[in-house]
Amino acid sequence: MLVTKSIYFEKKAMATVEVSCKYCKSIKVIKNGYSSIADRQVQRYRCQSCKKSFQLDYTNPAYKSDTADKIVAMTLNGSGVRDIRRVLGVGFKTIQNTLKKKE
Ligand SMILES: [Zn+2]
Repeated sequence: MLVTKSIYFEKKAMATVEVSCKYCKSIKVIKNGYSSIADRQVQRYRCQSCKKSFQLDYTNPAYKSDTADKIVAMTLNGSGVRDIRRVLGVGFKTIQNTLKKKE
């Protein structure tokens, strides 16, 4: 999955925060450092129940977990790269990489 690819554990702050896990909805979530996306730092969180890490705001649409599925679905429906870029707001490289991975 695209999401797990760019996770770096630079700082491990064990502070609890009022965030619920986007996967299992658990509130046992700790701060889990930052990830850099398009030259800005985004707070990452880690769920202690399901052990998945995530961030609240995916500023780059390429990092949204369902974007890859949409790219594949649109391709299967006959959409060209240009259509996908316009509709999903992702770059050409993202589309290429996604389709390569799904092959
Ligand atoms: Zn969880």
